Amino acid sequence: MTDSAQPGTAEAPREAATHCPYCALQCGMTLHHAEGRVEVRPRQFPTNRGGLCQKGWTAAELLDHPERLTTPLLRDPASGELRPASWDAALTRITDGIRDIQTRHGRDAVAVFGGGGLTNEKAYALGKFARVALGTRNIDYNGRFCMSSAAAAGIRAFGIDRGLPFPLADLGRADTLLLVGANPAETMPPLMRYLTEQRDAGGELIVIDPRVTATARAATRHLQPLPGTDLAVANALLHIALTEGWVDHDYVAARTTGFDAVRRVVAGYWPALVERLTGVPVADLEATARALGTAGRVVILTARGAEQHAKGVDTVTGYVNLALALGLPGRPGSGYGCLTGQGNGQGGREHGQKADQLPGYRRIDDPAAREHVAGVWGVPADDLPGPGVSAYELLDALGTPDGPKALLVLGSNPVVSAPRATRIEARLRSLDLLVVSDFVLSETAAIADVVLPTAQWAEEDGTMTNLEGRVLRRRALREPPPGVRTDLAVLTELAERLGSPGRFSADPRTVFDELRRASAGGPADYAGVTWERVDAQDGVFWPCPSVDRPDTPRLFADRFPTPDGRARFHPVEHRPAAEEVCPDYPLYLTTGRVLAQYQSGAQTRRIAPLRTAAPGVFVELHPDLADRLGIADGDELRVTSRRGELLAPARLTPTIRPDTVFAPFHWAGTARANSLTNDALDPTSRMPEFKVCAVRVEKAGPVVTADGTEKVG
Ligand code: SF4
Repeated sequence: MTDSAQPGTAEAPREAATHCPYCALQCGMTLHHAEGRVEVRPRQFPTNRGGLCQKGWTAAELLDHPERLTTPLLRDPASGELRPASWDAALTRITDGIRDIQTRHGRDAVAVFGGGGLTNEKAYALGKFARVALGTRNIDYNGRFCMSSAAAAGIRAFGIDRGLPFPLADLGRADTLLLVGANPAETMPPLMRYLTEQRDAGGELIVIDPRVTATARAATRHLQPLPGTDLAVANALLHIALTEGWVDHDYVAARTTGFDAVRRVVAGYWPALVERLTGVPVADLEATARALGTAGRVVILTARGAEQHAKGVDTVTGYVNLALALGLPGRPGSGYGCLTGQGNGQGGREHGQKADQLPGYRRIDDPAAREHVAGVWGVPADDLPGPGVSAYELLDALGTPDGPKALLVLGSNPVVSAPRATRIEARLRSLDLLVVSDFVLSETAAIADVVLPTAQWAEEDGTMTNLEGRVLRRRALREPPPGVRTDLAVLTELAERLGSPGRFSADPRTVFDELRRASAGGPADYAGVTWERVDAQDGVFWPCPSVDRPDTPRLFADRFPTPDGRARFHPVEHRPAAEEVCPDYPLYLTTGRVLAQYQSGAQTRRIAPLRTAAPGVFVELHPDLADRLGIADGDELRVTSRRGELLAPARLTPTIRPDTVFAPFHWAGTARANSLTNDALDPTSRMPEFKVCAVRVEKAGPVVTADGTEKVG
């Protein structure tokens, strides 16, 4: 630990140079501890250049928050209440429960669910814990809900999944920048500096989004398609580029395979047809294709708006095809990238907490990968379980006759964040044993049998990998409060109590050094990344296979990491959303985030300034639609889908399409937008279709309850 001080002591002021605990921009910040208070100060770092958003500024408020958990909680069988307990009692309850369940139902009856906010060390240790200490194939994580479609599209086209294959600074120098389904003005505001820089230099910024978001307002052109039709837009843009002669045929011939099949498919995406399908005028399609096809430096970025669909991989592939046809990947100042969302969404998907994966982005069904990793772990390769199922499929199997009977959750709050959340909450409640590690009583922790109080980001060392594939150092300012343990310490003790054949460590540097060995030779190779090197050069870009060799800020300059060194086109066709509108559910719902809240809101809903800025859920709808439905601004609404309902006040705005409503997903209970969302999965990435489903909207009338009081219902 670089610095440590107990909260509230009179020690000399201390500082730790670290990064924000929230999103994948991982803004640099300095934590300053003096007179019992921890203060956040922005820090010059290549990504945020001294900027922070409101979430970052207020991040330290949770450290000594009155709702902070500082003792384990055990559910009392008599009262059904969670009661404080000793660590020994909590860990005994967990290990006894695991042994009993695995004896009766087999090893896979215990499952693990991780998170995209865990450090690389914790994500690695969790994957190892599942495969070695528990011997279960059932592990996956909430990153499956965020970036998995772009990851799958990247792997099949480029042979590798690194969100941005170039540093963020390239955005500011792009002549044309296309953002598809991304709203960084609200999700990662300091990134907007690059877009301002780009526009100030005369660049064209084009945003594709069904809503006129804050980012769309900053653009030079905004395309506003019907939710779920981004793929058709991509194919139309490539159709126009082909017709106009903007395709880089030399690049296509020298560096890619499979273009002819794509050419045949996009030939059918006539702009007029796509206008009818998407609502985007032909003139906008043509102007966008021209801006992409005739500029020097061109960057295309996708985010959740393009990815969170049952055809998310194909939608992203449509934009990858476009980028390849224009010769962008590997061209200096140009390329395709994905804007990763969660803090360690990138690193969290590289080191083994995914169902099909071993550290270093190795596949768990690859015999050579199993041999290598099993060697590092000191266990026979044959003892490692095979691939499990994806996050939603895992959650949906909980408590069923053939599904897991116990679940260990780290760094996730699926009661709020899972699609079709009412069903998933019921599945979680049906478990014999639910264990949640968190630092506040999240909605998932509140229904657990055992809750373990864990350290926060300012109380742990480790590494994170940001949206650029840059490995960063998280540095501790202080020790965790008395009664709180780190996840690494808990996993180590649980492994020991379970008689694990592999050895575990509570020391993050020891874990990272083991991760380096386990990842060596894999696609996400960290073998040459050391904490000292990260400290010395503002982060290290993977792949970095040796301490003697430079890291890799830019990928694809000469070749792609595919067997023949070429990128691969894949023909993709538009298809309707998994659930289209109908007379009973005549409107599209799309969901997303707001500036002052983060993901399931378990942290940010507890921070007063953020709660003031974004106090609760709302439903955005167009004034024309509101007029048709007899709804006024502020009216309490009931939004109903085939899976559940949401109660929320109306917010009228002309910035949304009249056939679509929007709700943010940060709240719980009757305010939970994910009660509505569709659990249709992409066939490749297994990502759910969060971004579009069919709903009905009506005014919520007062309901008289059994005790005679009135409430909205
Ligand atoms: S943009 Fe992201 S990393 Fe930066 S301060 Fe805000 S939440 Fe934190």
